[in-house]
Amino acid sequence: MRRIDLKKAQTAHLATIRDINRQIVLNYVREREPISRAEIARESALQRSTVSAIIDDLQNEGLVEEIGEGESTGGRPPTLLRLRTAGPIAIGVAVTPTLTHIATSDLAGRVLKQTQFPTESDPDATFGRVIESIKDFLNQTGESVESIGVSLPGLVDPSNGTAIYVPYFQWRDLPVGNIISSATNLPVTLDNDANAAALAELWFGRPEVSDARDFIFVLVSAGVGTGIVFDGQVYRGERGAAGEFGHMIIGTNAPVACSCGNLDCWEAFASGRAALERYRKLARRPDNDAVTFKELVDLALVGEVNANTALRDTALCLGIGISNLIVGFSPEAVVVGGEIARAWHLVEDALKGTIEHSIRRGLPSARILPSTLGENPPLMGALSLVLASKFAAAAAA
Ligand SMILES: [Zn+2]
Repeated sequence: MRRIDLKKAQTAHLATIRDINRQIVLNYVREREPISRAEIARESALQRSTVSAIIDDLQNEGLVEEIGEGESTGGRPPTLLRLRTAGPIAIGVAVTPTLTHIATSDLAGRVLKQTQFPTESDPDATFGRVIESIKDFLNQTGESVESIGVSLPGLVDPSNGTAIYVPYFQWRDLPVGNIISSATNLPVTLDNDANAAALAELWFGRPEVSDARDFIFVLVSAGVGTGIVFDGQVYRGERGAAGEFGHMIIGTNAPVACSCGNLDCWEAFASGRAALERYRKLARRPDNDAVTFKELVDLALVGEVNANTALRDTALCLGIGISNLIVGFSPEAVVVGGEIARAWHLVEDALKGTIEHSIRRGLPSARILPSTLGENPPLMGALSLVLASKFAAAAAA
């Protein structure tokens, strides 16, 4: 359950209080369904009449539905409520350096249909196929989809839906939001993959993370990206450019070049591409041998020694960057997502060891946790760009 800071709420103006109350009620339904109006009122300490008015609104908007009666505790049996998850409400598009994933989901973030294809560096080709796939989904699902969320592996300006710079494909100032929106007639929300994944963790992740006011999501994929959650919100910075810690300098002569071209960035030491290069060297596999990071993690999981070593060495470098972030931000938690989260028991010691070693005793230590978003945080992130706005106070106004 997201914690709402009631002290702050009391000083906010009335419209904001209404939005926060709405957020509280909708989250009680989401987390505790089936639940009655009286239970929500009792547990949230909101007035019964306030809860009833909010539930009426949510029913009218098709977000909440009644599912019959619960057990009576004396008087009339209470009517139970749940999220209305009958059909797809969101489409998520995750463009990654290798594959582009497209999926529909219901209001609770459950993926209903999914497809993927190799990402092409020609944006017309990639977004042409994205639009084709979205239209296929819309033809199958009818009118219920309300909005599209898109996550990209680069610098994104969410305020105007523009990809400012995607290094893998050299895309610059590409109006992705407009391209998809004008072809589908649906609103499009765009964000950086790690920011979107942080948002997904905030709304759909484990309670110990979504309860945290401040945490950092570290997305380990072909690159390394970070999403910063500050005071329960994704911190985006000027033009959405915050969180580019993949390019902080942590050493020299990395195993691979960073997506920006440099050999001293964190990403060049700690990304999936860095792990793959270490593995190729250890296993004496040729450069053109097309093993993927996913396959490397699979090999490590079945005990292949070189894959295991490559992954641990990469985790050591990941730990260096994370300890820098902890020293600077002192977050409650750091969440690591991407394929590496599947092999948590293999990398946990290396990761935590580096962090403990580099942080001086007495300084606050954050919990380091694997993401629970599954193997595709950027896709869950893309869906969350749509879904979170249904729950979030700011977008409800
Ligand atoms: Zn870089």
